Amino acid sequence: MTTTSTPGQTTRIGILTSGGDAQGMNAAVRAVVRTAISNGARVFAIYEGFQGMVDGGAGIRELGWEDVGSILHKGGTLIGTFRSKDFRTWQGRRAAARNLLAHGIDRLVVIGGDGSLSGLDQFRADWPELLAELVASGELAQEVADAHPALMFAGLVGSIDNDLVGTDATIGADTALHRILEAIDALSSTAASHQRSFVVEVMGRHCGYLALMAAVAGGCDFAIIPEFPPAEGWEDRMCGALKRAREGGRRDTMVVVAEGARDRAGEPITSGYVRDVLEDRLGEDTRVTILGHVQRGGSPSAYDRWASTWLGYEAALEVLAATPGSVGPVIGFQGNRVVRVPLVEAVARTREVPELIRSGDYQQAMAHRGGAFQEMGAIFTELVDPTQEEVTPSSRRIAIIHAGGLAPGMNTAARDAVRLGLRRGHTMLGIRDGFPGLRDGQVDELGWAAVEDWLSSAGAELGVRRAMPTTEDLYPISRALEDHRVDGLLVIGGWNAYQAAHLLHRERERYPALRIPILCVPASIDNNLPGTELSIGADTALNIVTQAIDRLKVSGAAAKRAFVVETMGRYCGFLALASGLAGGAERVYLHEEGITLAELQADVEWLRQSFGAGRKLFLAVRNEAANPLYTTDFIARVLEEEGRGLYDVRQAVLGHVQQGGAPTPADRLLAARLVSKALHVLGEQLAAGRDDGGYVGLVQSRIEQSPLEHLNDDMDLKHRRPRHQWWMALRPVLRAVGDNPA
Ligand code: ADP
Repeated sequence: MTTTSTPGQTTRIGILTSGGDAQGMNAAVRAVVRTAISNGARVFAIYEGFQGMVDGGAGIRELGWEDVGSILHKGGTLIGTFRSKDFRTWQGRRAAARNLLAHGIDRLVVIGGDGSLSGLDQFRADWPELLAELVASGELAQEVADAHPALMFAGLVGSIDNDLVGTDATIGADTALHRILEAIDALSSTAASHQRSFVVEVMGRHCGYLALMAAVAGGCDFAIIPEFPPAEGWEDRMCGALKRAREGGRRDTMVVVAEGARDRAGEPITSGYVRDVLEDRLGEDTRVTILGHVQRGGSPSAYDRWASTWLGYEAALEVLAATPGSVGPVIGFQGNRVVRVPLVEAVARTREVPELIRSGDYQQAMAHRGGAFQEMGAIFTELVDPTQEEVTPSSRRIAIIHAGGLAPGMNTAARDAVRLGLRRGHTMLGIRDGFPGLRDGQVDELGWAAVEDWLSSAGAELGVRRAMPTTEDLYPISRALEDHRVDGLLVIGGWNAYQAAHLLHRERERYPALRIPILCVPASIDNNLPGTELSIGADTALNIVTQAIDRLKVSGAAAKRAFVVETMGRYCGFLALASGLAGGAERVYLHEEGITLAELQADVEWLRQSFGAGRKLFLAVRNEAANPLYTTDFIARVLEEEGRGLYDVRQAVLGHVQQGGAPTPADRLLAARLVSKALHVLGEQLAAGRDDGGYVGLVQSRIEQSPLEHLNDDMDLKHRRPRHQWWMALRPVLRAVGDNPA
């Protein structure tokens, strides 16, 4: 058979998912398809991973805009995945090349793990020779081979293990953590009731990411990960640590074991063995829970939807811009920045990890996982140990206060601060009810056990008030700080918390009691704080909004319906834009861009046309402060009136439910990193006798600090948000995937 197909004018892209499935793959596929179509290209799904190319026929089918509608919220991968043995063979890849070219495809987006990516690289390397062979055998016309001299590609990492070296987050890892934390939270309550022990086994053959992060976010007592096998005698040390935790006030014991855990002799450490140790040596009633494939299941988290959508968008642009000479990258994240890393190097470094473990170079194995992973390992060791360190020169009395609006994760941050602070030799105090409470002297000492239940609970046990201190409050506040001998203040909260800290800092010349370091930790669902890309609570709020959107969509499925959903955020559009991406919105309305009548009119016309052509559902997300006149109600009425009966319109103002959720894994982990850093800075300043204070934040992958004096430097004070907001980079992504050009 001779194929004479030529590519024609339209660029053609193939997309496939391969290896283990991961939640968020659908979001990436949808984004690749829609971005490519938005840019005038055609996309072909290759079903069942590489096998679809090997088989050809129905294994390769074009996808249209609507074919990838309503898949964002689904787990797994709709185009199937497979571990193809055939593709590992020359003959298999030969058939794959022939079948791809039958569709004029020489550009691929592959979403998979390191195995799939190395298969892709093999295919790229073989391509010219495969084509030469096909031409020689008469299966391919020379001019077709000439028109496609190279395979161009972009790789995305789909892996719940988060194991690719060089990127911070892989598609599916955040959702897997959601599943694990749901289980650990559920087990914790039953375990605490019976004072029982649980051993929880999570996935991760060579990578301890899920185990370590689950241990920190789940308040577990001990974690065994492949990168850092426990040294001989670990059973005694584990039992000793668990005993100390029980004596310190823990009512249950939770040990997390990665499925690939081994000891230093290379012998597997099974969850069953850990149970036996706990039962034999501690006499604990111990149960094992192996989470297994539950971790791969369920609806993707908000992060795995918006971030995978971004990756898919970038991958499509990458392959569209590729030329036969370009080397395809793996596209991933460093923090909240999209990065392109060389595929061969990323795969090679990923595969070094098991080697490093085998050779006993555990430090290097940990280092391969990146700074945040190592940082979390160190934080975990401190969090679980209730024994207080020797009092050092920096050991002082540190008070924790919340202010601003309520943010999920405030409790986690306060709990972690108490435990880390105690561990570092400080006395930890809790101030009740924000600055009014401080004014009234509501300050209590907090012990290790007092914060036992705070980790996963919604709300703020210490109480939170928006009220800023008034000038009259300053004297009683400084008296209260003096009375309780407060040496340092940890302010966990939102905009008003930061401004209050700034005020106290400025007034320190007049009130000597205010000459203490004050450190701010960002906690606000609005995500509008200085010096940080994300604040504690924003991810939880985002998940709540995304789930609400999912339900609204189901409710509207039976009718032709347009929804206008209003999110919180004050003047910051992060929640609106990110939930618009995660929920599959066609439009978002942000204060950053404003709303004009001309745009609304264009939207109405587009909507009418679109519903006329068969659309069933439309979703717009509007930030609460997007425009003072074009309110959610106004927009909904305009859409309804102008729709002339083609569709009906419902509005949903989500309101305070957005502040009410139990913190997500990402918010708990962020809280741990931020308070750990804030306490370090406090400790340093106390030891040095300084009172500069500061605020901490996530900047790319790192936790950074800035001095309080600079608090308002880069802020748009009128609109209470940073002048530069990194997430505005998502704006074109939503346009590309939300706005069908047809
Ligand atoms: P993951 O992508 O999740 O790491 P695997 O390691 O199972 O999963 O790889 C997925 C598929 O990628 C394999 O079934 C095979 O089809 C393909 N593949 C992996 N390595 C190679 C290789 N060296 N050559 C060709 N194909 C490969």
